[in-house]
Amino acid sequence: MNTDTIAAIASGLSNSGISIIRVSGENAFKIGDKIFRAASGKTVSDMESFKVAYGHIVSDERVIDEVLLIKMKAPHTYTREDIIEIDCHGGTVVTKAVLEAVFAAGARPAEPGEFTKRAFLNGRIDLSQAEAVSDIISAKSRLALNNSINQLRGDVKEKIKGLRDRILHETAYIEAALDDPEHYDLTGYPDELEKKIGAILDEINALIKSSDNGRIIKEGISTVILGRPNAGKSSLLNVILGQERAIVTDIAGTTRDTLEEMVLLDGIVLKMIDTAGIRDTDNVIERIGVDKAKKAADEADLILYVIDATAGISEEDISLLSILKDKRIIILINKTDVEYLNSDEIITKIPDRSVPVISISAMKQTGIDELKKCITNMFFAGKLDFNDETYITNLRQKNLLTEAGKSLEAVRNSIEAGMPEDFYSIDLMAAYTSLGLITGENVEDDLADRIFSEFCMGK
Ligand code: GDP
Repeated sequence: MNTDTIAAIASGLSNSGISIIRVSGENAFKIGDKIFRAASGKTVSDMESFKVAYGHIVSDERVIDEVLLIKMKAPHTYTREDIIEIDCHGGTVVTKAVLEAVFAAGARPAEPGEFTKRAFLNGRIDLSQAEAVSDIISAKSRLALNNSINQLRGDVKEKIKGLRDRILHETAYIEAALDDPEHYDLTGYPDELEKKIGAILDEINALIKSSDNGRIIKEGISTVILGRPNAGKSSLLNVILGQERAIVTDIAGTTRDTLEEMVLLDGIVLKMIDTAGIRDTDNVIERIGVDKAKKAADEADLILYVIDATAGISEEDISLLSILKDKRIIILINKTDVEYLNSDEIITKIPDRSVPVISISAMKQTGIDELKKCITNMFFAGKLDFNDETYITNLRQKNLLTEAGKSLEAVRNSIEAGMPEDFYSIDLMAAYTSLGLITGENVEDDLADRIFSEFCMGK
């Protein structure tokens, strides 16, 4: 295993109060000895572990900065290697000078995600937890953060481990029975196995299903605003964008499409699609046409359909609403600040009566709280507290679950077709392997490299 010593700035590089430089590997303490002069006179090697020392960083006996240094001895560290962390002054120049001194003393620059990769390779965390670290850093909402923290705590890992144990148990039983038919009887076993497989499949499918909500939690609800010209789409968009903006980070791997804007509505992130398109024209539906409206709607998790109360519902509205009937829609009757509206008449003409209808005024900003409530109900059954649930937020993990599900279906088919038992164990083992890749068992180097390369520097 690679034990060379790596270093990077672990905090953002900006004019902050302090920056943190992290050094991990075999020579971390020796490097500390070379560049750190503690006020106490102790060397880093002589310092106690998990203690902070005050002192100076020197290069060619010239003081570069006044710092605090934390010594952390393996194995109880993030990477399970020896680590020092230097809290130096923030600011690009001084931080870089301290980092240069660390390099000059023998460390090499860490690759993005290399600290976490070492934590994974040294068995401190599994791959699902490593991915959670990346998700925590790029979390765009409190909800996304909670979910990633659950995953870091090991929720996915434990679930997957449980499923794998059950599959392995059955494979072992089949193998034992085939080797030693005198002591293990397979009569009636296929039926029993079919039941057990069914139960495992149910759990896998539930996890796959959770990924829809998981994606929404992580990436936001992609939302389009549709409606006839002048209905008030841009006005509504401005009201929505006037809410707290979601934090969008620069971390590699987070997409930053200029046509999307993220907004935080009470802990839920809305990803407003094609907002530029709405702003550019007063005539969205005419311009984009029914086909394109359909396409935009296809890509969206949620459609906010705006109807102008003063103009009433038109044939065009009715036909578009019928086309979009399979999507999650909220109808917003806008301009309800104007006196002569008749929203009851509009409501009776809406083709699908189960669609929620909310009266709003984009101009007076009324009805927006009701809209938020309606979205929360629609997507999260009204609750924004997910402490007990595990959501798969990661496409790689979802695909592997799907693979495992297919292998288990194949076992079920073999049972139904009356195939011999050794057929079952091949597919059972395939499912076992797919699930193992989620947590990083026998994961190939290049896959690990790719996953960690999407991390930010210093993590
Ligand atoms: P879009 O074409 O659907 O994007 O509609 P706009 O947002 O550009 O609005 C069209 C017109 O309706 C503008 O003159 C807005 O000021 C007006 N408008 C939008 N929302 C409201 C509202 O809630 N009440 C009133 N009275 N006028 C509104």
